[in-house]
Amino acid sequence: MLITDQQLLFYQRCDRRAFLDIYGDSSQKEAPSDFLMKLMQDSANFQQRVLETQTYQKPDYPARDWSAAAQATLELMQQGVEKIAKGVLAVLPEQLQQVRWLPPAPNITLVSYPDLLVKQPGYSNFGDWIYVPTDIRLGKRPKLDYQMVVAFHAQVLALVQGSQPDVSWLILREKGAYGVNLSQRIDQMRQILADYIEMLQSQQEPEVFIARQKCSLCQWHQSCYQVAQSQHHLSLLPGVTPSRYLCLQELNLLSVEALAQITPDVLEPYPEFSDGSGLQVIQQAQAVWHNQAVLRWSVRRTMAATITETDPATRIDAANGSTVQPGSIVANYVSSRDSNIHKNGQNSPSIHGTTLQDILYQAPVELYFDIEAQPELHLDYLHGVLVVDKRSNTQEFYGFLAESPESELIAWQQFLELVWAYPIAPIYHFCDYELKTIQRLAKTYQTPRYLWQPLIKRLVDIHQKVTQTVTLPVESYALKPIARWMGFEWRNANANGAQCVYWYEQWLKTGDRTVLETILRYNEDDCRATHHVKDWLANFLDQA
Ligand code: SF4
Repeated sequence: MLITDQQLLFYQRCDRRAFLDIYGDSSQKEAPSDFLMKLMQDSANFQQRVLETQTYQKPDYPARDWSAAAQATLELMQQGVEKIAKGVLAVLPEQLQQVRWLPPAPNITLVSYPDLLVKQPGYSNFGDWIYVPTDIRLGKRPKLDYQMVVAFHAQVLALVQGSQPDVSWLILREKGAYGVNLSQRIDQMRQILADYIEMLQSQQEPEVFIARQKCSLCQWHQSCYQVAQSQHHLSLLPGVTPSRYLCLQELNLLSVEALAQITPDVLEPYPEFSDGSGLQVIQQAQAVWHNQAVLRWSVRRTMAATITETDPATRIDAANGSTVQPGSIVANYVSSRDSNIHKNGQNSPSIHGTTLQDILYQAPVELYFDIEAQPELHLDYLHGVLVVDKRSNTQEFYGFLAESPESELIAWQQFLELVWAYPIAPIYHFCDYELKTIQRLAKTYQTPRYLWQPLIKRLVDIHQKVTQTVTLPVESYALKPIARWMGFEWRNANANGAQCVYWYEQWLKTGDRTVLETILRYNEDDCRATHHVKDWLANFLDQA
């Protein structure tokens, strides 16, 4: 069985992925998405650009023949070639038998693919020189998993050349060359490798754990997601992180139903559930178990306080949540702990500095704003604005598009012109990217303060409002799952932000206008989805 540096990288990110790559049913593995293909191509292009600045030799071998490649690389190393690009290093099972830090592994071969091997002074099996490995990575930072991979190269290299280098190198997109101190990393890497080999030998399939960032680009995502759904796995609950999941396992709380029925004091001893996160996770389980939106406990408490000030007779019902099910367990608990919080009329219905009135406010004209960006070009190329005019009962979408990176300023100016045509209309958006982008563009293009600073006060982040006020039966608080649960559908079900990054690159390469149309339609739907969520939330809070 071959163990490569790539598998070790995947194992660090997800043990299940490394397992499935070896033992999984490959028909369940999806083809890479357009966005993943783009990332792989960008990475290959970056490697090519770096290698063009170097003088090197490449071993000559037939494609996909790692054994011939390792032999050809060994010959170049024996000759003392200064730099070897795309070499292959291999340690066979019989050589590994003598390695004491590994578990007995009779059928394992280690194969590593360093981007560059650089000759340096020292003593090795070849003579008075040694080789040091370098990897070229598109990433900005020397992430720990990258460091482990170059430590793996160094370890395999040590077994091949009979000498351990002190340092390995990463060449990164923004940081340039970064030296990895092997005395700090090699033992860590050995432990990871030993664990990985043990997992492979036991053939025990690791438990599924869906985490958005880790799983979104994984080719096993659909297969794992189906497993998680069939198990009603707790990782599908927002707020259940791997460390919190370990606590829940310790408490034998292994189902959504079980979690929905406990009181927050069960979780309080665990630091992982400090700062009210235990309450929130329980309320999340209740929302999912009953498939129902639940007012957040902090809002419920605020409302109870307000009602008490105005009419003490209604307090018990409101604080106990008897009219808003599910959530009464949490509400009772909060009510009993916080029974003294609203003395002397000092509490107003304020949640994190915003009032319920702010959320419920219905302006005659509302603007819904969403941006599309091309991160690696530092370009915000589309400002989409949906103008909802309640006076005339009309909705009109405007897409201010930079068809080339050079026209970003024009799109920005067009956006400013439109929002100033409605000088007091609130500007609703989802998450803080729009706020940051207004600040970035104003700085980049030296926009006068009076044109952009008042906009900041008009911005209303709907994501923040949702997460401050309501717990929903969703798997994530991104726009898509929230709006879909509320009944909104995108016209193109497969479109997403990452896909737009790919599409805009295609537009720049091919000039195909249908791609631009697809991006505009997706952006318009994002604006409409934000409108849908805002209306739903206002209605829900009004009812509550
Ligand atoms: S989808 Fe997630 S859990 Fe499944 S293998 Fe990929 S990274 Fe691991």
